[in-house]
Amino acid sequence: MAQGRAARMVAARERDGDTCVWCGTAFDERTRATREHVIPRVKGGPSWLENEVAACRRCNGERGHRALVEWLDECERRGWQPDVPRLERVLVALQRAIAERGGQRRARPQLDAQLRRLRKRTPQHV
Ligand SMILES: [Zn+2]
Repeated sequence: MAQGRAARMVAARERDGDTCVWCGTAFDERTRATREHVIPRVKGGPSWLENEVAACRRCNGERGHRALVEWLDECERRGWQPDVPRLERVLVALQRAIAERGGQRRARPQLDAQLRRLRKRTPQHV
């Protein structure tokens, strides 16, 4: 059942829409969609559709391995309007997927902490 990367990217865009999760730019010939791992792979995030969203190359590169909420705050400081509901949906779906499939011991604490922080935070542009 494992989908290839390209198929997961298509599925993520069908699920979420054709915009960068961080800056909201619509994808086109100039702004290409790249795979963004919500929980970075270096922090144990799996290469599953449930851990992947589409982001433009610039945002994906600039975030690097920063924790989700840390980078989210930075996006808002820059005056962007990141898709917070999308991020929350993906984190919840990832928790569910891990609960069903097991494993992912490194990703779990990171995921739980980020979801907690995401729900507690006050958007900075309000
Ligand atoms: Zn972007």
